Formats: sequence, C-alpha cells, structure tokens
Amino acid sequence: MYRSHTCGELTRSDIGKDVTLAGWAAKIRTMGGMAFIDIRDRYGITQLAFNDGYNPELLKKAAAIGREFVIQAVGKVAERESKNLQMPTGEIEIIVTELTILNSAKTPPFLIENDTDGGDDLRMQYRYLDLRRETVRNNMLLRHNLAQAVRQHLSTAGFIEVETPVLIKSTPEGARDFVVPSRLNPGQFYALPQSPQTFKQLLMVSGFDRYFQIVKCFRDEDLRADRQPEFTQIDCEMSFVEREDILQVFEGLTKQLFTTVRGVDLPEVPRMSYADAMCYYGSDKPDIRFDMRFVPLNQVAQGKGFGVFDNAEAVIGICAPGAAVYTRKQLDELTDFMKRPQIGATGLIYCRVEADGSLKSSVDKFFDQEALKLWAEACNAKPGDLILVLAGDLHKVRKQMNELRLEMGSRLGLRDPFNYKPLWVVDFPLLEQDEESGRWHAMHHPFTSPLPEDVPLMNTDPGAVRANAYDLVINGVEVGGGSIRIHDRALQERMFELLGFTPDQARAQFGFLMDAFEFGAPPHGGIAFGFDRLCSLFGGSDSIRDYIAFPKNNSGRDVMIDAPSALDSAQLDELSVSVKKG
Ligand code: ASP
Repeated sequence: MYRSHTCGELTRSDIGKDVTLAGWAAKIRTMGGMAFIDIRDRYGITQLAFNDGYNPELLKKAAAIGREFVIQAVGKVAERESKNLQMPTGEIEIIVTELTILNSAKTPPFLIENDTDGGDDLRMQYRYLDLRRETVRNNMLLRHNLAQAVRQHLSTAGFIEVETPVLIKSTPEGARDFVVPSRLNPGQFYALPQSPQTFKQLLMVSGFDRYFQIVKCFRDEDLRADRQPEFTQIDCEMSFVEREDILQVFEGLTKQLFTTVRGVDLPEVPRMSYADAMCYYGSDKPDIRFDMRFVPLNQVAQGKGFGVFDNAEAVIGICAPGAAVYTRKQLDELTDFMKRPQIGATGLIYCRVEADGSLKSSVDKFFDQEALKLWAEACNAKPGDLILVLAGDLHKVRKQMNELRLEMGSRLGLRDPFNYKPLWVVDFPLLEQDEESGRWHAMHHPFTSPLPEDVPLMNTDPGAVRANAYDLVINGVEVGGGSIRIHDRALQERMFELLGFTPDQARAQFGFLMDAFEFGAPPHGGIAFGFDRLCSLFGGSDSIRDYIAFPKNNSGRDVMIDAPSALDSAQLDELSVSVKKG
C-alpha cells in the first residue's frame, strides 16, 4: 500500500492515527536536530516532522531529500506546535518513523508554489511541473467541474452526447482550416472541424432532437492573446425550436452552471439588438457591468465653429462618473492611450463638471457655459463627472469610444471579474460586406437563417437582412453564439448564391447537407459555447490558456513537445506531400 491517506485530508480528529502518505517534497527545512518536509499531492500539503531525539538515522535521510523528490512516509498524526490555520491540515503533523524515496528529482527549473519565480516560457516548457502548482491545478479542477455540470444539466434536459468526426471536409466558420494529408488518397486532404456545425444539423435530420458534445474545434487563425488554434466548445443543437426556445434552454444551462459551480445566482438575462449594442456601446459584445452609454452629441456640439466637430459624421460622448477629479496629467495620459496606433484616435475632448456645477472643457474657446450645459444635460452628467468626447467617422468613433469606455470602466474599478452580467445580443446582420472586394460574407455562418420577415430583402437589400442569430455575452466576453438554421434547400441555395458560390461550387462543398434537407429536415437551431472561455470567466481570469492543460503559445507552438515540427522525406513521400525548401 503506497498510502493510507492523501496529503490533504488529515486533521485534528486524526491525531494519534498511524498513517502512510506519498507525494512530492514541496518544502524542506532542516534546523539543528530537527527537520520538516512538506509533502504535497493533488489534494493538499501535510507537514512531516523528523526529530533526532529518537531517530538520528531518519533525520539524516530526511536531510538528503531534495525538492520534488517522490517520497513515502509512515508515521503518527500529532498535534502541531505552531499551527497554520490557513490550511486544512495546518493543525497537525506526522511524526515520521519510516521514510522511503520512491524517486529522486532534479531541481525543478522554477518554484512549484502559487507565487512562482518561473516566467511564462519556462512554465510552458515544463507544463507538467506547472500543473503541480495549486493555482493551475485548481483551474483544471474548475474545468472538470464545469464539464460535469454541463453534462449533468444537458443530459437531464434530454440532450444526448454524440461524437462527430475530426477528419472531415472544410466547414466554413470564417477561419482557415487545419488540414491533414490522406496517405490512402494521394493529393487529397481532410480538414479538421472548425466546429461540428454540419454534422449536428445532420443529426437533427436523423431525428436526434437534442444533441450536445463537449468537443475540440480547430481554427487556423492569426493568434491573439486569448485565442488557441485548438479549443473546446459545448456544442448544442435542437429540433422543433424557435429562437425563444433556445434562449430559454441555454439561459437555464448558464444559470445552473453559475449556481452549481460558483454559487452565484445570475440575474435575468436581458436582450439587446445588435443595432443597439453598436449604437450605445460601439461593440457587439457590450460589457454591461457598468453604464457609461454612448451619447450622440451631434445636435448640441455641431455648428459652434469647432471644425473637428462640424466636419465629423459622428460626435459621441460618454460620462465617466466621479472622474472630474482627473488631473491634466491623467487626461493627457488618456489622450495618449487613445492615440496609440491600435486605437488611432486623433484626439480626445473633455469637459469636467466641477463640484459647483461649473463646466471646464478642453474646447472652452468654442463652447461657453451655456453650450457646455447642453452637453452635460445630454450626458446626464452630475457635478464631479467627466464627459469625454470623440468625433469623426461613425464606424471609427464607435470603435474608439468602445475602447475608451472599457478603459474608463477599468480605471474606475467598475469591472469586477466576479460581478457577472450576462446579456443576449440578437438580430445580427446576416451578411457583412468586404470593403475591398464588395463580396458578402456570412456574419455567423452560411447555415444561419434570416429572420422570416427579412427573407424578401435577400433579393433587394442583402445588407439589411437580419439573422435569426444570438450571442451570449458575459462581462463583455462572447461566451456563446448560435442561430436558427436554414432547413430548406432552396433558401440554402439562395444563401450560397449570395455568398458568391456558383451552384456547382455549392453542390461540391455542401451537396450532402442540401441533399439531406430534401429528406425531411425538421426546423432546428443551436448554439455553441466557448468552453475554455467559460472556464476563464468562472475563474475570474482573462486568459483561456490557464484553463487548458497543455496550451499552445502565442505562435501556435507547443513548446513542451516542440510541435509543429518537420517530417522526414520518407514520411512526406508516403503522404504525397512535397515541401517548398527555403
Ligand atoms: N458552429 C457555430 C460556431 O462555432 C455555433 C452554432 O451556430 O451553433 O460558432
């Protein structure tokens, strides 16, 4: 028997018991005739005590143990003299009578403690050691708990988990495919799924009615900080449903997850149209933990001789509560933040509402108190508030103002990661137009149905067609998205036509799906949640990487196993793949 207990479970009530523990030597302290070793496993840490008063041999053995050695200790549970009430095992220690080294260990390249001295790169290279740290392990535990809660909830609601293939043909979800050469079919390639979209729709045609899968998806995108080339979705699909049914069911799932896993009661999930989200927040994923809505100021700010406003398509303001105390230096800093190339504003205009109600702006030359009062009224600004204004092209100003709003929200401490504010964003445009080529792209994916009342617009004004699509946004993060699908061959053909496919191309790529629609496809719709992102949100973190056991770095590499890597020429030949040298 390697162990009688784990390193996390012995407490006062075990005092006097004979026990055997096994784990890793986390901390070793030798002092005079005594030694202490903290032994760690997945469950916790327990203090082992050695005292030469009764066993000098054992003490010598303990002194020879290095950090991260795998050890086994036999002994008796005793009350500790100096207690640590922060940890569950902190009131006891084990008076060791036998110590065995099960395996030695090299000195680890970084401290395996919550506050580690290891940088990102080093920890990624030795991820298996990083995973020994309690914080990282707890993230994995959270992930496990979430996955269990999802399975439990959805199974109870009649969903069945079905695995769909990983070696498939391209599914367009807006990214590039990862491809796999087929040895048996020279010159041909599988694509890895960007999502199981077409398969889950086929399962609806099969009559499965309610499907889910916690599934890996692959997208070959330019990586951003919170993106991974492979990631996990909670993928779901339902038959005989309308949008309302889906929103109800998945609001239920979301609430249940927050209750079970975080002990948080989520509020009702409000709904907002895409058009409103853009108009009031300049983003299709507004962070509604705080207000600071955009206020259109064209009417009150134009026509006073200030060229920047007069020549602008849009003048938009926000009111930062309590920020009138901002010093000139802070405002300059904020202006510099807005002028960074990533944001690209040309300037930032402000107006303080002083404690006595007087108004002090950066454009006092053009606007007297009377004129500024109109700004303050429009923004509902109170004494002590700060009005910030941007002007220019509507699209650009919205984007820039979104950045400013989020920045001010952070600076004013309004974005507590554990204050969860969910929101459904609905009525997205069906299509978006590529500015250069003029081509239409599906904003969600080509299987998304238009709102029934907008179908006629497909022929007259495609840009105005709204999709029967929805996103679940929590704290400004897109957690999930889905749509009611097209289940009619003719409409699906029309959609492909709008997207610039010839009938032949559409048939070659998606004939199987359109054929299936002719064999009794029920009305259906679904949603997929970004599981990694959901985990990070539950954990109160911005980084999905911390919630993935073996993540890739920012260049899409696994630095631990060193992938991707070159293949030798024999293997390439076998796959009929030739590689450009250079
Ligand atoms: N397949 C979609 C996605 O990955 C989700 C859905 O429409 O259900 O975004």
